[in-house]
Amino acid sequence: MSHCKGCGKRPEEIKEYRIAASESGETPEEFVRTEEGTYNPRTERFYCTACYIAAGMPLGIADRETPPGCVLVIKDGETNEP
Ligand SMILES: [Zn+2]
Repeated sequence: MSHCKGCGKRPEEIKEYRIAASESGETPEEFVRTEEGTYNPRTERFYCTACYIAAGMPLGIADRETPPGCVLVIKDGETNEP
């Protein structure tokens, strides 16, 4: 079950998610999983709006434990030789 990384509340306990979820016919849990930009599917944590602001509006998902996945690996030396 997902919960906020900051305050530990579950989506059902956060009013804005209950309202938004009811408007789109989802449960608060489903809404956070599909719509909340800070939701981390691996750890099931997210930042609610209050905690997101308190945390300084971090980029990316909450509770990120590894570097961003799209690390560009550049192989050199094979085709750059004169
Ligand atoms: Zn929170």
